[in-house]
Amino acid sequence: MSDRETASGLVVRLKGADFFVSTGSGEVRCSLRGRFRLESGSEDVIPVVGDTVRFKRERAGDASPPRGVIVGIEPRKSILVRSEAFQKKGYRILGANMDQAILVFAVKEPALNLRLLDRLLVAALCGSMEAVICINKMDLAPDPAEIEEELAPYMTMGYQVVRSSARTFEGVDRLAALLAAKLSILAGPSGSGKTSLVSCVQPGLELAVADVSARTGKGTHTTSHFELHHLASGGFLGDTPGVREFGIWGVSKEKLAAFFKDFDPFRGACRFATCTHSHEPGCAVKEAVESGRVARARYESYLRILDTVPDERTMKHPR
Ligand code: GDP
Ligand code: ZN
Repeated sequence: MSDRETASGLVVRLKGADFFVSTGSGEVRCSLRGRFRLESGSEDVIPVVGDTVRFKRERAGDASPPRGVIVGIEPRKSILVRSEAFQKKGYRILGANMDQAILVFAVKEPALNLRLLDRLLVAALCGSMEAVICINKMDLAPDPAEIEEELAPYMTMGYQVVRSSARTFEGVDRLAALLAAKLSILAGPSGSGKTSLVSCVQPGLELAVADVSARTGKGTHTTSHFELHHLASGGFLGDTPGVREFGIWGVSKEKLAAFFKDFDPFRGACRFATCTHSHEPGCAVKEAVESGRVARARYESYLRILDTVPDERTMKHPR
């Protein structure tokens, strides 16, 4: 096989031990021999959905799709990673190389959980991808002004906020435009309307966003459910199983505040350079909360996450 040229493609789906790699001319079902390093000195990794991999085609049989063997992974420009206690490494990389995470929440049914949104924003930002906030089921909003008030801090931070409804089609065009020609991952609670929105954007596209833990009663086997779908507009869209909680991985207590954009104007003015904006005196972030310049709810999200992440000294970084 060494005489065969290598080609490259995008991992769009995993099945069993196989990786489905999308190329300009169809999919190739690849197996993996060994593990790879993304850079010299780094830990070994195995490919995830969104990776660009190099592979060698196996001698043409009549296998459909054709078969190949992965021989390398390109460096990742972004990753979405969550902590998962039951994983050996303590975390799982949900996808790589996404341009943006589209975070879909409903105004109600299920109730708008902005604290979960705050966690996902940290995960997106620390994984080097953009985040777009999509507030769905606007048709059910009893008081749109109240929703606007809750969303105001996110608008001030500069996040794009799409208000949508899969019922009235509000926001659907804007969502479609945002997805075009990009690699995106959809995330948000189960029932927020991800599947419905996607079928508004592209009828016929089947997502597998169902909450796996609800179906199996266990939250432990969600691996194979993430898949990238090719959009007619040229982008790729991936789904995640509905998230009810999201553990932050790869951020230390000392670094966490850097992922709260609304703290940026204040962080530099704390008395201590190492301020974690929790118990320290002379904290400019806490003062900003008191004076209403940082939303208290955002600060509470920060404190909750701070409680769950390690110190810089004991930190491990995801690969
Ligand atoms: P997913 O779990 O995030 O994929 O959510 P689904 O797309 O399966 O939607 C969950 C439920 O909410 C379904 O009964 C949908 O019909 C409903 N739904 C989705 N989007 C909207 C919306 O914009 N407005 C209203 N009223 N219902 C919606
Ligand atoms: Zn501080």
